Amino acid sequence: MNAASDPTRRMKEFHQVRARAMRLSAAGGPLAPVELPLGPWGEHQVLIEVAACGVCRTDLHLLDGELPQANYPVVPGHEIVGHVRARGAEVTAFQIGERVGVPWLARTCGHCRYCRDGAENLCDQPTFTGCSVDGGFATHVLADSRFCLPIPPLYSDAEAAPLLCAGLIGYRAYRACRDARALGLYGFGAAAHLLAQVALAEGRAVFAFTRPGDLVAQQFARELGAEWAGDSGQAAPRVLDAAIIFAPVGALVPVALRAVRKGGRVVCAGIHMSDIPSFPYQALWGERSVSSIANLTRADGQEFMQLAARVRLRPSVEIFPLARANDALARLRAGELRGAAVLDPRLREEESR
Ligand SMILES: [Zn+2]
Ligand SMILES: [Zn+2]
Repeated sequence: MNAASDPTRRMKEFHQVRARAMRLSAAGGPLAPVELPLGPWGEHQVLIEVAACGVCRTDLHLLDGELPQANYPVVPGHEIVGHVRARGAEVTAFQIGERVGVPWLARTCGHCRYCRDGAENLCDQPTFTGCSVDGGFATHVLADSRFCLPIPPLYSDAEAAPLLCAGLIGYRAYRACRDARALGLYGFGAAAHLLAQVALAEGRAVFAFTRPGDLVAQQFARELGAEWAGDSGQAAPRVLDAAIIFAPVGALVPVALRAVRKGGRVVCAGIHMSDIPSFPYQALWGERSVSSIANLTRADGQEFMQLAARVRLRPSVEIFPLARANDALARLRAGELRGAAVLDPRLREEESR
């Protein structure tokens, strides 16, 4: 058996590979370049050479110390697209060289009541990529193959990255809106721009609410086919059936409740939000409801990737070299991105697209 075909030997060779990564040593940041050994290996793990990793609002919450699940120091990044370079002994799902995606849900316990009931997104002992274990702001990453997803071939590496959180957790929020015909989206960033495309493909009307005065985001929403786009404080031109709040702004909850019809739903899709101000019961009356969306299940991931293979989404991405991760986060925080920021570890620092 030669080195290439002997899996144990191959694993040992890769054990000596060190990843270049942008790591957060503690809340407050900034991210700093480091070299990290890869391991220890698990039998279900794959070694992935990262081709692209999306930058998500959750990474800002990680930077700001707002996530109790965080395990510093940590390499952020939970929208990873890359190629399998080595496999643990028990890996059956993916071949060497195959392109895979690594989402936010890195592992679950498999035995708590939620895991047993098909709600592994609510697992009592979960592991999250780029939060409780190192993620994809790196040249290489280890991931549990049982939680990795296939990537539809019609997307480039950079286009596929935002599908892995913005797309699929956004899709979980979208499904929670059931058959809403008139759908409000509060915060028009990476998730909303993908979900708007899904909603429009399914014949729904989209109403986009942005930060006050963000005419660029409003124009972007209209270009994608939104029926209306305006400031979050403005009234929608018609009553909504449901609304999804992507912005981490608790004050939008009563605003969205006033915009939905009787029986309508308001779904909060982010992992963290500022406090929700008190509001009169009248805003909730009429069987309106408010709920949150937490994480994803593997079934969500499979379902969304099948949808993305069927409906050609057009992710709008801005690509940064890995070394410019701090710039990408700053642009996201300032609301200066059109769509999603994606890090490409193969680009040199002076390059960006
Ligand atoms: Zn569990
Ligand atoms: Zn995310």
